[in-house]
Amino acid sequence: MAKTALITGASQGIGAAIGKKLASDGFNIAVNCYSEREVENGGNQVVEACRSCGVEAECFIGDVSNFDSCAEMVKAVKARFGTIDVLVNNAGITKDGLLARMSEAQFDAVAAVNFKGVFNMTRHVSGVMMRQRSGHIINITSVAGLYGNPGQFNYSATKAGVVGMTLTAAKELGPRNITVNAVAPGFIETPMTDVLTDEQKAAALSSVPLGRFGKPEEIAAAVAFLASDAAGYISGQVIVVDGAMSM
Ligand code: NAP
Repeated sequence: MAKTALITGASQGIGAAIGKKLASDGFNIAVNCYSEREVENGGNQVVEACRSCGVEAECFIGDVSNFDSCAEMVKAVKARFGTIDVLVNNAGITKDGLLARMSEAQFDAVAAVNFKGVFNMTRHVSGVMMRQRSGHIINITSVAGLYGNPGQFNYSATKAGVVGMTLTAAKELGPRNITVNAVAPGFIETPMTDVLTDEQKAAALSSVPLGRFGKPEEIAAAVAFLASDAAGYISGQVIVVDGAMSM
């Protein structure tokens, strides 16, 4: 039976690339979209691209920041595909600003999606995986969570929190044959980074020894490795994919 991968925030950017890569590796794909708008503005195209690889794929609407919404989504994916073998916690947002001017709303919004969202999804999917006695969970963190980044107090805090959740989940779920790892991208060309000014992009680029920004497919490749049998003995790790930017 084909294995199933559930990817959050998969209608565009890194999540879409992960969905397509895992489909080409033979996984059935559950494409989580935040709302009907994302289904129409990208989710359906991702599903079609996955199906063209010969696997089954479908969009599942759900808000990762909402505990009950995640429970319903996980139930629906399990009912549709029978198993959940890979969970990729990819959904994320930014609401950048210097600490001195950051509002409580800016902090809470980012914490709800990037931090609590990982708890919500992992909490529900880990139950399925524990009963299966197998699974791979891959969390998308960021180099900002490892090294900090001015203007991203909220974002870097949530991404550091994701590393903590990754390490603890690896220890708790390891005895049930579940691996838990994180991938920490540097600067990747997606809608999230498109909004930065040319000045901000030039500043970021000057700190990348490889001399270019990363592509979503380069993050997807690392995720696909961690989701594969070849990575069965790797757990509790954070793989940095940043063109040596944070070295
Ligand atoms: P993106 O293009 O903005 O994609 C993020 C996706 O998450 C969007 O589809 C977004 O939907 C979705 N999402 C937001 N809130 C959600 C919610 N409550 N429930 C479900 N889905 C939700 O960003 P990306 O660059 O691909 O980022 C993907 C992940 O990589 C994020 O965790 C990000 O922090 C991380 N990352 C990115 C970079 C980079 O340079 N791009 C670097 C380091 C880490 P909407 O469009 O509706 O908001």
